[in-house]
Amino acid sequence: MSFFDNTLALIDKASSIMHLGAGAKSILSNPDRIIQVSVPVKMDSGEVKVFTGFRVQHCNLPGPYKGGIRYHQDVNMEEVKALATLMTFKCSVVGIPLGGGKGGIIVNPKELSKRELEAMTRGYAEAIAQFVGPTIDVPAPDVNTDGQIMAWFADEYSKVKGGENLPGVVTGKPLAYGGSLGRDKATAQGGFYVLDEVMKQKGLDAKKTRVVIQGFGNAGSHCAEILDKAGYKVVAVSDSKGGIYCADGIHVTNALSCKFEKGSIQECQDVSMTAGQKCERITNEQLLELECDILVLSALENQVNSQNVNNVKAKMILELANGPTTTEADEVLKQKGIVVIPDILANAGGVTVSYFELVQNQANFYWSAEEVETRLKEIMVKSWNRVDEMHTKFNTTYRMGAFISAFDRLDQIMKVRGIV
Ligand code: NAD
Repeated sequence: MSFFDNTLALIDKASSIMHLGAGAKSILSNPDRIIQVSVPVKMDSGEVKVFTGFRVQHCNLPGPYKGGIRYHQDVNMEEVKALATLMTFKCSVVGIPLGGGKGGIIVNPKELSKRELEAMTRGYAEAIAQFVGPTIDVPAPDVNTDGQIMAWFADEYSKVKGGENLPGVVTGKPLAYGGSLGRDKATAQGGFYVLDEVMKQKGLDAKKTRVVIQGFGNAGSHCAEILDKAGYKVVAVSDSKGGIYCADGIHVTNALSCKFEKGSIQECQDVSMTAGQKCERITNEQLLELECDILVLSALENQVNSQNVNNVKAKMILELANGPTTTEADEVLKQKGIVVIPDILANAGGVTVSYFELVQNQANFYWSAEEVETRLKEIMVKSWNRVDEMHTKFNTTYRMGAFISAFDRLDQIMKVRGIV
């Protein structure tokens, strides 16, 4: 089943639990607009390479389309459609006035020089400029894209639009160019606020909680830092090349600087909390099957699937990645009693602070880090309470509770606008 089919299956399931009208369900199952562009780049060698880029605009009923741009060799239209769809539901779960979109380019950015990366980003910005804008569609970083890439995008867009300075066309920008304090760690921070509520509700103690984290990029590495600071014991982490396991816990700060220096976490075996003890090298498959209390998924989609779900031993899963669990696997997790804090709630902190960035750009007035954190916490806790309420009311999983919470708000908008 493709990632998009998987997403449609979730829409089906939630719609039938809450008896969503057929018209509303059909609208939510079909993206508004699908854009594909060719981006020619003169490479350092002099050769011209043409990269394929996408932008999918799923729904703008609550406000402008909003969603990241992914650079990855496996990017494809079905994936971008699924991610755009999930963005609509994510914004709705946290009740922010934005819709859903997503973009991507088929490229392994690690094979490009900095100049080539900039040229490709500017080419992509130019190619989709007529479809995006601060009140139309606002991209952001995702896998393998960052603040620098957002700054190039905004700079090119501003030039295409005749020189008006329009940093609000993207979020996740560097602080020097209209970024928001707290945006870099927002995804992980938002996930933490929800996890903290779940831990309190279940009477669990952070100090006795062992955590395994798949993916050590923006979401995963900030999550490791935040959980470590809160007293959790992070015992394993991984990146695309594989992972490490330290029975006595990982010294997260040392692991981060080692990963930065050596490029791969598997090269960092000397980061155990116990001096002199070597961490074990493990594969990503082994990591997902480790005994632990919490498994944080912060890499890519379809990681827990029908092939490995029976071997998952975590008691709880925090989905910072988008779509990391397939629908088949989700059903098994439910039967095994493994609690899943679903992506559209768990990782919504990122888009929430992106929304704050947009508001700050529009007002041209910038908030303190404390203000960002306080507002983020308030939204995440409120959203969790609403999801928990739906989960109880409909006697269903947190994932379905989150979908129902999102659909209920979207349905109200469609009704008052006279669309359904
Ligand atoms: P990133 O590029 O910063 O990091 C991705 C990490 O995953 C890297 O460490 C990479 O090496 C690792 N990885 C890739 N393939 C892997 C594999 N097969 N096994 C293990 N690790 C693997 O990206 P990110 O921004 O941290 O995004 C990660 C996930 O979180 C994505 O699903 C993204 O859509 C989602 N997300 C990100 C944000 C955000 O604000 N950055 C917001 C919401 C959701």
